Amino acid sequence: MAEPARDPRYDILFEPVRIGPLTAKNRFFQVPHCNGMGYRDPSAHAEMRAVKAQGGWAVICTEQAEIHYSSEITPYIEARIWDDHDIPALALVAERIHEHGAIAGIELAYNGLNGPNLYSRTAPLAPTALPVASWFVDPVQAREMTKRDIANLRRWHRQAVDRALRAGFDLVYVYAAHTYGGIHHFLSPRYNLRSDCYGGSLTNRMRLLRELLTDTVEEVDGRAAVACRITVDELLGDAGITRDDIEAVLGELGEIPDLWDFVLGTWEDDSVTSRFSAEGDQEQYVAGLKALTSKPVVGVGRFTSPDTMVRMVRRGVLDFIGAARPSIADPYLPRKIEEGRLEDIRECIGCNICVTGDHTMSPIRCTQNPSMGEEWRRGWHPEVYRARHAAERVLVVGAGPAGLEAAMAAGKRGYEVVLVERSRRLGGRGAAEARLPGLAEWIRVLDYREGQISRMDNVEVYLESPMTAAELLEYDFAHVAVATGSAWRRDGVGRWHTHRVPIGGLPVLTPDDLMTGDRPAGRRVVIFDDDHFYMGGVLAELLAGEGYDVAIVTPQAYVSRWTINTMDQHRIQAKLMDLGVDLHCNSTVESIGDDGLELACTYTGRRSSLEAEAAVLVTARLSETSLLAELEARRGEWADRGLRSVRAVGDALAPGTIAAAVWEGRRFAEEIEAPSDDADTTPYRREVTQLAPKA
Ligand code: ADP
Ligand code: SF4
Repeated sequence: MAEPARDPRYDILFEPVRIGPLTAKNRFFQVPHCNGMGYRDPSAHAEMRAVKAQGGWAVICTEQAEIHYSSEITPYIEARIWDDHDIPALALVAERIHEHGAIAGIELAYNGLNGPNLYSRTAPLAPTALPVASWFVDPVQAREMTKRDIANLRRWHRQAVDRALRAGFDLVYVYAAHTYGGIHHFLSPRYNLRSDCYGGSLTNRMRLLRELLTDTVEEVDGRAAVACRITVDELLGDAGITRDDIEAVLGELGEIPDLWDFVLGTWEDDSVTSRFSAEGDQEQYVAGLKALTSKPVVGVGRFTSPDTMVRMVRRGVLDFIGAARPSIADPYLPRKIEEGRLEDIRECIGCNICVTGDHTMSPIRCTQNPSMGEEWRRGWHPEVYRARHAAERVLVVGAGPAGLEAAMAAGKRGYEVVLVERSRRLGGRGAAEARLPGLAEWIRVLDYREGQISRMDNVEVYLESPMTAAELLEYDFAHVAVATGSAWRRDGVGRWHTHRVPIGGLPVLTPDDLMTGDRPAGRRVVIFDDDHFYMGGVLAELLAGEGYDVAIVTPQAYVSRWTINTMDQHRIQAKLMDLGVDLHCNSTVESIGDDGLELACTYTGRRSSLEAEAAVLVTARLSETSLLAELEARRGEWADRGLRSVRAVGDALAPGTIAAAVWEGRRFAEEIEAPSDDADTTPYRREVTQLAPKA
């Protein structure tokens, strides 16, 4: 590691802090976070955590580990510690964390009411017999736990603690948060309707927590530290866990564990997108709690600014700077602060693409950090790049998210890179979208890459330089990335309509038009959203905020439906309702006339009409492939000019998320010498379930 050159203002972040029998080397604490890899991709999971350990986090935790087969949340892919079979995979995680000098934590979870048990088929156990509170509203009810069930749970929890220790973990969590931990359900008057000694009064509702904490402390017997993760406010008023409840819990149980980890409400309340919450927003809920215990406390707040972190410690709000997303976007965040390299920090943009990995049961991904989830599969690293294979020159055409990443990553590999951009500014759609309501932090995708590129002598950038095939072939580039992006369609073709929608005299605009400043002439605007991610909802918010009378039509049952996966759909829908946007769900636009649109119900086909003075179509995008086509037409000239490969990258290849464009940019750079596009075998490592011995 380089000599520490940090600003003395940040020294406090690097003080060691005791956690029971352990000493954390600094205050950087990667709190448990899901990753869509869990029990299915153990080596990938272990390597992802190992990279964070290299990056300087003092404590690194797993996601929730289901402690027993009667508490699983299939189809989600979490860690499992059901029995001894699960130990080797978890031991690998602990081992890889230890190799780089960090403390390894594990979050033991008994999901109870949160898990439909679709795999085990056992009836879920909960404080009260209620339908499960699962994401997919499964038709499953939990049964009320008897005293015997509670005794079983205490035994299972102890067994899981023992297995966690045998797997090598140093810090064991008792999970009572996010409505995911069964203990949360016991604490909450919303879910606990019992009338025995485990229900009713707060003393009774916290009884299970007290028992599990005491059991865990006894079981670890000084060989590991014990943490308790708890929801400090369920945000339901007296119907749920309140601040007063938590103050009383800390008064009663505050000294039992070695560390408290404070979270807010449900996961949706805790990991809010930047569209709806700023850095450090949890402070208002957490402030003052630390004074109620002598034990260290950790909390989150999408902290990326060391000044904010210092403030949290100095004001006595937190002892540890907890991070999930900032550690995903930049696994080297602590090390960069320590080495005085603040300009190299890749700040989380709060887009929650990482969260979608968990919700879609796919390996974690990140808009800012394309190596996330690829550390083991593809051997990508957030900071370390393989050296170039030869002294070749690379041209990247287009400086959107894909082109910026391709140029930066190829530059970091040591290639001579030229990045050309037709417009006057860098950033492409990333820069344009960051000007939309609530998306300002997205500019960090551009800022990070622009900053890195500006410090590399081997990467040259030319603005206002539209590139043609003729010009390109004049130069001696061996490899070309065509990152020319895409444009929103104007013809209504998308997911619902795969052929053009009839369009009459009504003015039709696209998101690109609105982003470049065009506005409808009239007042009444109808948005047809057949894209279902953020764009349709954001544009409705933009236009409503500017005083337009806005309606949004979507074939889905909710506006911006895919944002269920980024956990802000409910906020988007509420916002549009508050803004007076007229919502037409389960509807399509069948045609656009001269003074309105014809809609059809997606179920019955019943027609209706909607008056409008303009329509905005948010349906699909078309890749900008003209340069590619020109180059393809002149393929015969490539060899003479020394041109060896041309690849479309990002939206020019296939329009997708900004995260996907950045990832493709990285893939281009990683595979310059050997593109995997035509591979006959899987071009990345994966783990295949081992067959059990034949019976
Ligand atoms: P992506 O998300 O794939 O990075 P963007 O649409 O954000 O795509 O960015 C594409 C960028 O490419 C835009 O900034 C656009 O101005 C630029 N561009 C498109 N065609 C050319 C070209 N022929 N020469 C130079 N730049 C181009
Ligand atoms: Fe942050 Fe988005 Fe990366 Fe998640 S995906 S860590 S929210 S930048």
